[in-house]
Amino acid sequence: MGQPGRVLPAVPVIMWFRRDLRLADQPALRAAVDRASATEGSVLPLFVLDPRLGSMSGQNRLAFLYRSLRSLQSDGVPLVVRLGEPERELPALAAELGASHVYATADFGVYGHDRDRRVGDALRRRGVAFEAVESNYVIPPGSVRKGDDTPFKVFTPYKRVWETLADGVRPSGRIDPHLVPWWRDTVSEEIPADPAGASGFLPEASETAAHERLRRFLAGPVDDYREARNIPGADATSRLSADLKYGLLHPRQILPSLHGRGAGADVFRSELCWREFYADVLWHRPETARRSLITAMDEIRVDEGPLADGRFDAWRLGRTGYPFIDAGMRQLLREGWMHNRVRMAAASFLVKDLHLDWRRGARWFMDQLVDGDLASNQHGWQWTAGTGTDASPYYRVFNPILQGKKFDPDGDYIRRYVPELGDVSNRFIHEPWLAPSTTAALFDTEVTGTIPSYPQPIVDHFAERLDALARYEEIRSADGSRIGDAR
Ligand code: FAD
Repeated sequence: MGQPGRVLPAVPVIMWFRRDLRLADQPALRAAVDRASATEGSVLPLFVLDPRLGSMSGQNRLAFLYRSLRSLQSDGVPLVVRLGEPERELPALAAELGASHVYATADFGVYGHDRDRRVGDALRRRGVAFEAVESNYVIPPGSVRKGDDTPFKVFTPYKRVWETLADGVRPSGRIDPHLVPWWRDTVSEEIPADPAGASGFLPEASETAAHERLRRFLAGPVDDYREARNIPGADATSRLSADLKYGLLHPRQILPSLHGRGAGADVFRSELCWREFYADVLWHRPETARRSLITAMDEIRVDEGPLADGRFDAWRLGRTGYPFIDAGMRQLLREGWMHNRVRMAAASFLVKDLHLDWRRGARWFMDQLVDGDLASNQHGWQWTAGTGTDASPYYRVFNPILQGKKFDPDGDYIRRYVPELGDVSNRFIHEPWLAPSTTAALFDTEVTGTIPSYPQPIVDHFAERLDALARYEEIRSADGSRIGDAR
């Protein structure tokens, strides 16, 4: 590394930050710094605000991203921000500065991988090398394979292999930004202000805050994680999903602390593995971002039209009349985040109680979630809808009442997000329509944007469950394939 304050030579190496907004365990930045040191050059830290990605990210993710970029700057990285398509911006900047190398963390996402191919081609045409280093995963998508070299379609055997590969992986140290010979002679755009409508409850977006969240989680909650992770009112999960999405933290930095820590830590490691499994599935089957993994399931009958639209709005706004589902949907609206247990129940409700296309719900989640990640989201939805990977066959229908009774027995979570039910006793909190004062007509309700009191259930779960199973049977008998068995 160079000395601070020395006169910099003319040729910088470009470090293109994307979903790796950190200084600790940063192999791509390390490679850029090493290259700069070897050539007596300097490092230009770049972030490109790609309008295509901007239009795909909801306001919560954009706010989290912009804050993370500001935080990287205040940590001592003189980030240069450019607005435009990377395949134009990178070659133009490299030509302007005479840069010979661009470094980045490899992106295995559907859009990111394709974009990098285009950027790499455009750079190479100008004689600039593009080096994609490591990935945002412990084991890069595409690397965990069966004995016959084909990809896994089922989680548990994938995890067995993943664990053996992940076992020896260790994070590298933090790069001291004050020792990096940064290139400082390039005009930067301003990092945009938070978009209108972003939640006021987003987690603090910085590498330091991510490490503090991890520290707090490892200091205690991880030990109870196996059971407590299912209780949405307990705040017992790590809340690291947005940090992992934007690379304020890499899972490599978490794994060593989980070794020999007990059952809670083992389950937590499994959850980190789910993230990698879904990235792997999407890597091999990129079309499953938009289509069902079990293709026959794309033919299932779904409801459309004004009634379906009204039901979708009721779901989106947390006004279905099922308190556990509504609490989750309102948590999402308010905080840009929802507890995993409730994500599953709410997704199941949309698909199996309202008979809407899973993609419609997945789009709403991607619009709202601060941790919205195409692989985890689309495949979390497909798992619940029974159109994707293993473990949740279509005929498993989450009961929105029993889910609440089991995982929020005292209604703490419901009361936090559905204040109209604040005074309802525990006995009726999951079925408020049974409370003596509200035994109104069960399904005779209208959804409006601002109902002052709590709505009646918009559908009868028990009838809709049978309807869902009938629709599934239609596909099964028409297709005759092994639906529900992705192996
Ligand atoms: P923790 O319980 O503390 O888990 C630690 C980390 O493990 C998470 O941050 C996440 O990176 C990973 N993880 C945990 N559970 C899963 C899982 N089931 N699948 C994949 N990774 C997991 N997660 C996202 O990061 N982005 C999404 O867009 C997303 N959409 C989802 C949609 C649906 C319908 C469902 C059922 C799940 C979805 N998940 C998604 C997975 C999971 O709900 C979140 O990762 C988790 O709630 C984040 O909170 P946490 O960090 O406190 O999780």
